[in-house]
Amino acid sequence: MAIERTLSIVKPDATRKNLVGKIVARFEEEGLRICAMRKIHMSLREAEGFYAVHKGRPFFGELTAFMSSGPCVVMVLEGENAILRNREIMGATNPAQAAEGTLRKLYAASIGENAVHGSDAPETAATEIAYFFSALDLH
Ligand code: ADP
Ligand code: MG
Repeated sequence: MAIERTLSIVKPDATRKNLVGKIVARFEEEGLRICAMRKIHMSLREAEGFYAVHKGRPFFGELTAFMSSGPCVVMVLEGENAILRNREIMGATNPAQAAEGTLRKLYAASIGENAVHGSDAPETAATEIAYFFSALDLH
């Protein structure tokens, strides 16, 4: 198994509900390490840049408006198979389909406002980490 790094975001719905501590604690309990962490408030342009891969999808406007509607906490998680592990801890995109005990089952209100983001592959993890952090930020 490989040690990987992945980007995690506590989305604006979850920061609004004061869930940052619970979500970060869950990652640590699951054995993932926090390599870097920052609270940010993305502009619409910054959210559009981050989600450029979804440009043209019907939910792009709603998604980028939501992601720039309030602060997020962006983190780099590190651990064995961190990319897949994080996706498992998060649960399915739609909380109605997310497994019991996953972050989205516990905390998400809808498919759009779904509490957390996680990179889905090594290439996207590298690009997404570099969107928010420089190499010197990662410890
Ligand atoms: P994931 O975040 O699980 O990787 P996607 O990459 O497919 O999911 O979508 C990115 C984000 O866009 C989702 O987390 C969610 O916030 C939003 N989204 C996805 N599908 C929809 C939809 N049908 N309606 C509204 N928002 C959506
Ligand atoms: Mg995705």
